[in-house]
Amino acid sequence: METLKGIPVSPGVAISRAVVLDAERHVIPRRRVSMNQVPGELSRLQQALERSRGDVEQLREQTAATIGEDLAKIFDAHQAMLEDPHVIQQIERRIKTDLVCAEYAVYAVMRGFAERFRQMENRFVRERVHDVWDLERRILRHLIGRTRKDLEELTQPAVVIAHDLTPSQTASLDKEKIIALATDIGGQTSHTGILAHALGIPAIVGLEEVTSKANPGDTVIIDGNRGLVIIDPDAAQLLEYRQSVKRIAELESSLDKLVDLPAETKDGTHITLMANIEFPSEIQPALEKGATGIGLYRTEFLYLASDRPPTEEQQYEAYKQAIAALDGKPLTIRTLDLGADKFQDRGSTPTNHVERNPFLGCRSIRFCLQNLPLFKTQLRAILRASVEGPMRIMFPLITSVMELRQARMILNDVMEDLEDEGIAFRDDIPVGIMIEVPSAALQAGTLRNDVDFFSIGTNDLIQYTLAVDRGNERVASLYSGAHPAVIQLIAQVLGAARKSDLEVSLCGEMGGEPEYTMMLLGMGLRSLSITPPAIPEVKKIIRIVTIDRCQRVARKAGSLESEREVLNFLRAETRRVDPDVVTSGAMEY
Ligand code: PEP
Ligand code: MG
Repeated sequence: METLKGIPVSPGVAISRAVVLDAERHVIPRRRVSMNQVPGELSRLQQALERSRGDVEQLREQTAATIGEDLAKIFDAHQAMLEDPHVIQQIERRIKTDLVCAEYAVYAVMRGFAERFRQMENRFVRERVHDVWDLERRILRHLIGRTRKDLEELTQPAVVIAHDLTPSQTASLDKEKIIALATDIGGQTSHTGILAHALGIPAIVGLEEVTSKANPGDTVIIDGNRGLVIIDPDAAQLLEYRQSVKRIAELESSLDKLVDLPAETKDGTHITLMANIEFPSEIQPALEKGATGIGLYRTEFLYLASDRPPTEEQQYEAYKQAIAALDGKPLTIRTLDLGADKFQDRGSTPTNHVERNPFLGCRSIRFCLQNLPLFKTQLRAILRASVEGPMRIMFPLITSVMELRQARMILNDVMEDLEDEGIAFRDDIPVGIMIEVPSAALQAGTLRNDVDFFSIGTNDLIQYTLAVDRGNERVASLYSGAHPAVIQLIAQVLGAARKSDLEVSLCGEMGGEPEYTMMLLGMGLRSLSITPPAIPEVKKIIRIVTIDRCQRVARKAGSLESEREVLNFLRAETRRVDPDVVTSGAMEY
């Protein structure tokens, strides 16, 4: 039995057998072999190593001829590792003593090496981990190349354990079969975590070494509330967690009774509770959780889910489908937020080039403004769909007035084109922006003059305010919505919006974490857009508090000096009104 602690990004508990994925998302089987199959496995290993050496030799020659001898030397290290008797002996020993197939032995030994490199102090030595993964991939390809198993071929429910999963890989998981996720890397609001939450499956990221600790087929418990992965649990733990699964199901069904009740505080203030989605198919489940509309439709997932950029027609159809599913309820479409961790990993798009600081690079609205044909195609599809039902446009990552005006200008150009072509659209479609970088929060008083609404994106606002990569587990403990600087920026935006009666909502993950509900209402927020599974719990809190109480909580939280004090205070206050609450557990002080 072994317990690992990571960052909980999607709550819930799951107990199942583990499926461990290699870097290419293929399932690594832990196939047992008998004593007399051992010589066969050893010779399969030798063949795979031989072929891998051939590959590397060829790559070295090609690189030397096209780029130069200096860079070709990179492959000498790969070759040395493939010939290293110490490495080969370790793999062989695994086959002979653990009686496992060659592919599992390669996987287990290479993961062990990778882990040791990852823990090195020296940055250059640490970087060698990528060489190890590269070699692992290469050898495995020769061992199980044609018979590799995909996740799609799973027949029974399982917990997926992977080094990392990209947002598009996560989005394509089959929720019926994959009941929980655990990854080595990732941070609190990485998009993989956001998607797992939207899919309603428990997930833990940033576990650092779960792929080297868990074996395929092991029984594992994923405790998405506390961020724990228990590998090979004992009978007492299994019993405890089975009871916990039952309790959570009971709690969820009691919360589901709130679906048709209004999101109204005890003293009668109405709060708009909308949902964040990535695909139109998520709308129906969101409505079933009590959402009164969609406050954030992350349209970039249409791009991430296919090999080539969707056409205008495909986008138009998706938006039309979303409007139809909403049946008169409002839809806020966010224009493409590609880049950073939301890149396309299957086909090729202009986002594929490598950036040194992707979160500070050509992402989101910047990318759109540099790729006008792609941006205009999306705007045309949105405008054409706008006649089908209540819809608003939202631009992400606005950092300056000039950028906003530029985006609006392009929107006007597209409107003129449609008018010339005699195509119907709503010319008074509301246009808003996300406030998710500190410059926009500080300039909210100016930006408000050019928009119809604001939506505060705390996921990015936190990372840019605190200089903490939202997807990096190594700095995850520094990422906190309770930081006084973040709270001050939110207050600044709310103050600016209030002065001109501008509608303002909040669509970051923070809005779905129940410990923040009272503070946010007390600060003046009356609209939240959150991940659908979080709606019932947040509604429950809204219905038991008064605005007066929330204002007292907000005032006190605003007077505290550190995120630790703020979070401890908010959690204690939340538990006072709702002792059953499951707080995010992202950081227990
Ligand atoms: C945010 O940044 O808070 C947000 C909602 O957008 P995303 O998570 O898609 O970056
Ligand atoms: Mg964002």
